Amino acid sequence: QLYCEMAAPAPVAASLKADAYGLGIERIAPALAAAGCEIFFVALPCEGIALRKLLPRVCIVVLSGADRVSAPLFIRNRLSPALNSLDQIAGWQHICAAGEDVEAAILHIDTGMSRLGLTPDEVSLLAAEPARLDGIRLQCILSHLACADEPDNAMNARQRNAFIAATAALEPATGRVARSLANSSGTFLGRDFHFDLVRPGAALYGINPVPQ
Ligand SMILES: *Cc1c(COP(=O)(O)O)cnc(C)c1O
Repeated sequence: QLYCEMAAPAPVAASLKADAYGLGIERIAPALAAAGCEIFFVALPCEGIALRKLLPRVCIVVLSGADRVSAPLFIRNRLSPALNSLDQIAGWQHICAAGEDVEAAILHIDTGMSRLGLTPDEVSLLAAEPARLDGIRLQCILSHLACADEPDNAMNARQRNAFIAATAALEPATGRVARSLANSSGTFLGRDFHFDLVRPGAALYGINPVPQ
């Protein structure tokens, strides 16, 4: 409820990694759906498959992305892959070109977390070669904050600026799509960080997102 009030009009998605941070998705996922959550982020395809059994209709994004082996699971369970690299973009483009009935994908760009997502070089290449996205339906571009639990950390503004610059550079390739930057702590950094969707995880499960 607090997140919905803070983020409005941006909707609130739920990050449900690691069995809802150990609490058990069988109880957590239906409760979140009953509270109005329609978009869920999970880390791995197996988590997406388990969640799909519980919630037949919601949007489920798998942050690790799809590969050649897991792609059929994405199709069968209607999972949306995050595209984290030019390789993953090429692989998903191949599947879309084959005429498979797939969910819209998410483009994940790295603005400083250095874990997943297109590197700045890959973003430049993609902006220069928009055909790499031809035939791929995108629903969102996201990036993840590395230090959002430290409101005074200059990294937060740096990542926000990098996110705005990268999404602007990519707009000719992606068209206008929703943007998402904030996790639990990031949502507390204020409106400037909310964009079109926030994605708290930890705070939904009782972990304090504002330790100070
Ligand atoms: C884990 C994760 C989140 C949620 O982060 P919290 O700190 O648990 O709120 C959001 N987005 C991505 C990409 C994540 O990996």
